[in-house]
Amino acid sequence: MDKEKSPKHNTQVWIANWGHGYFDINEQGNVLVKPNREGRSGDLYQLVQSLVQRGVEPPILLRFDGIIRDRIKAIYAAFDKAINDYGYKNRYQAAYPIKVNPQRHVVDMVHECGRPGHIGLEVGSKPELIAVLAYDSVDNLLLCNGYKDAEYIELALLARKLGRRSIIIIEQLYELKMVLDAAIRLNVEAEIGFRMKPYNKGSGRWGSSGGDLAKFGLSIHEIVAGLDQLKAYGKTHWLKLLHYHMGSQVPTIATIKKVLNEAARMFIELAKECPSLCFFDVGGGLGVDYDGSKSANDSSMNYTIDEYAKDVVAAIGDACDKADMPHPVILSESGRAIAAHHSVLITEVIDVSPTMDPLENIEKPPTDHEILETLCYLYNEVTTLNCEEFLHDAIELKEKILNSFIYEGMSLIERAYAEKVYKQLISKIAHLAKNLDYVPEEIDAIDRTLLDVYFCNFSVFQSLPDAWAIGQIFPVMPIHRMKDEPKRRAIIADLSCDSDGKIDCFSSRIGPKYFLRLHEPNQQPYYLGVFLVGAYQEILGGMHNLFGDTNTVHVDVDEDGMWEVTHVVEGDTISEVLDYVEYDADALNERLRSTIEKSLRAGRLTNEESAKLQKKFKQALESYTYLVV
Ligand SMILES: *Cc1c(COP(=O)(O)O)cnc(C)c1O
Repeated sequence: MDKEKSPKHNTQVWIANWGHGYFDINEQGNVLVKPNREGRSGDLYQLVQSLVQRGVEPPILLRFDGIIRDRIKAIYAAFDKAINDYGYKNRYQAAYPIKVNPQRHVVDMVHECGRPGHIGLEVGSKPELIAVLAYDSVDNLLLCNGYKDAEYIELALLARKLGRRSIIIIEQLYELKMVLDAAIRLNVEAEIGFRMKPYNKGSGRWGSSGGDLAKFGLSIHEIVAGLDQLKAYGKTHWLKLLHYHMGSQVPTIATIKKVLNEAARMFIELAKECPSLCFFDVGGGLGVDYDGSKSANDSSMNYTIDEYAKDVVAAIGDACDKADMPHPVILSESGRAIAAHHSVLITEVIDVSPTMDPLENIEKPPTDHEILETLCYLYNEVTTLNCEEFLHDAIELKEKILNSFIYEGMSLIERAYAEKVYKQLISKIAHLAKNLDYVPEEIDAIDRTLLDVYFCNFSVFQSLPDAWAIGQIFPVMPIHRMKDEPKRRAIIADLSCDSDGKIDCFSSRIGPKYFLRLHEPNQQPYYLGVFLVGAYQEILGGMHNLFGDTNTVHVDVDEDGMWEVTHVVEGDTISEVLDYVEYDADALNERLRSTIEKSLRAGRLTNEESAKLQKKFKQALESYTYLVV
């Protein structure tokens, strides 16, 4: 085997598992981005270098518009193929749930890229409705979900007078009467959908979005009551859509199918009463394989988009054929599957705290303290065969070191030496144990603590909230230097003063792993990419420690493989995040000035120093919330 090639090959296989063809490595060992999966590609490292030269500092969130375009295309292609193969007699349409990534440039991009397939938008609140109410898409659907008050309902109805095709989806039974009354009052022909609560729960992290105790949706008897109400108003022809949502990131196809079959039957029963029913909306839930394991793990999925599309088409097609009813339009509200791949977070390593590597020889003890001599003896005499026994001795000694320091007058120098040799010893034991056929659990546990900590310029709470909140795995890797095999075993720590602000679970070719392989630091900037962060992360992110929005850059690759920067959205400044917590920049400057006056009078400060301080303070207010390296 060609030794040089194999690490790169392994990495390429790993990237292919989660990258869906959008990412690769080139000859220089840099990460490549391929927005169309084939054809043109761009060098991610060169892009970051050029942005940094232009003054766009990391952390930078990169949004690849081409990837959104390709995701939409891929989902439509999967459904078109399934429809064709089945002989299904209607079409598929997507609706983008804007909560997944409501940034204006992202929604604009989805709207633009989805034009050929008449992509609709789905909103779940009044602010979301207001954000997209005035889009100029006459025949595209505007699906109105979520809790609704009279204002929400009236706006959604009036949108129809602007030519928007809004469909109000009834999630709670009381909303139906409000919609009927408002539509009649406003003289609007409404279109209505019912959200059903499927009996079967989804699976995965958001499984409880479905099932009997779900927060949203109508139970069977409520649907029947809703039908009666429509009949009483003489408006059964307003019912157009049946919807359900199983929750996000459903990892197993079996659960998807179960719910599909139930919903398809419900569609038939409703359509018998309301022949106007013409949209079968399967909601979200289509997964993203974050860890690349193609499994039923929470961060993965055990099916492809093609399989998903095939199952949706077959379920509703079969149910309709059996009942001799026409095929409805199929809708899906796949948010994560559209948006996740298109964003990459770039962060820079700012410091490394290395773990101890075992030394050939250790220094002599500074004194003849018995504990120090025993530690030295253990270090020199430990072998593969006795390493488990020596580990027990070492652990016992560790306790003794502390007691000796507290109660028996061990000196600071002696304690420092003892702790250093202890760490070396543990590390040597872990190394020696690698030659054993079977590594004892205790030694494995020790080995798991022998990791480098790479400190990076970003905040988990702002940029990867799901990594913190629910242990979501995101692929992480250096975006350059991949010609050389990364040898260090590391975890990642962020800038926040919070011990949870770290990444210590990573995807690998063999499933989740507790360390990431990184390169030895050199004099050059070292950039890491966190991939698949385009869904939910930005908008769920919080300002813990007052780290604000990162710099964001929209990019595409042109025909010559050159980067084309379409938008640069500057990250928050310090004064912007302070304003959010009610500190006014002018008031802060004013307060500084009066404190300076007092210090001048007290002689703590010279005039020149006060001028400098004021200038620095002002500049800092307008600077990035992250480190400027
Ligand atoms: C959140 C949500 C979605 C999006 O789900 P994904 O799993 O991201 O595709 C779709 N529909 C509704 C009603 C939602 O609340």
